[in-house]
Amino acid sequence: MSGVICITGASAGIGQAAAKRFATHGWRVVGMARRLDRLEGLKNELGDAFYPAACDVGDRDAVADAFAALPPEFADIDVLVNNAGVGKGLDLAQDATLDDWDVMIQTNINGLLYCTHAVLPGMVAKNHGFIVNLGSIAGEYNYKTGNVYGATKAFVKHFTQNLKADLLGTMVRVSCIEPGLTRTEFQQVRFDRDEAKSEAPYRGITPLTAGDIVEAIWWVVNQPEHVTVTTLEIWPTDLANGTFAFHRRTSD
Ligand code: NAP
Repeated sequence: MSGVICITGASAGIGQAAAKRFATHGWRVVGMARRLDRLEGLKNELGDAFYPAACDVGDRDAVADAFAALPPEFADIDVLVNNAGVGKGLDLAQDATLDDWDVMIQTNINGLLYCTHAVLPGMVAKNHGFIVNLGSIAGEYNYKTGNVYGATKAFVKHFTQNLKADLLGTMVRVSCIEPGLTRTEFQQVRFDRDEAKSEAPYRGITPLTAGDIVEAIWWVVNQPEHVTVTTLEIWPTDLANGTFAFHRRTSD
């Protein structure tokens, strides 16, 4: 399969690696992100297969304008990868700021909705298309300090499943890919580029790489049209979850 794929968050991490994979394997790639200089760097590297679309996905009008302004050879989108996302801070809910919560909700939820809304009618009209949403294992399992980030990713999973219900009877497919800890710029953004804090999550373990997640995106998108992978969790081998925590009031 090949065609036009729009990847949000293409200026770094998983999105950038995905843009390179698809552009070098016969696809025309629309890369969205706010940092135009990064997108222009990708354009220099990937050539005519790549179209840089600078856009804040959390800005509803900017998203509509960006999709409306796509040149004809990039306008008919076959696959949308809703990858742009952020985690801000790593605080207990009682210590977190509303600013951090707003950024996560605006990007991870509203941004994903604005982009989906822009492409979905066209996909249904041609009875063909694919929306791949980047969720997280944080949307599946609770953990201390996961509060709003995990909740945004739970939204992504549930919205994907509800989309599947709405799209039944069409050949438009939806998938939710849920990575665990992956080495990208994600932790640098979370900790405002504080290097020591950003490196701490990776200490002594082998995290996933952006390339590992791109393998999953590539595999999901290239399944035959009658196959839909609904939810795919990808974990580092060095990570597991334990769901119960007790606060014991006595020591005996
Ligand atoms: P990353 O390296 O920080 O890349 C994030 C990308 O999102 C960047 O290209 C960034 O570009 C873009 N972005 C952020 N806010 C945006 C906005 N308002 N408008 C447009 N683009 C925006 O992070 P990553 O790890 O690749 O994350 C990709 C996805 O995987 C996210 O949805 C994340 O939640 C999910 N995920 C990551 C991990 C992990 O451990 N890394 C684990 C599970 C899930 P600009 O700054 O240029 O706009």
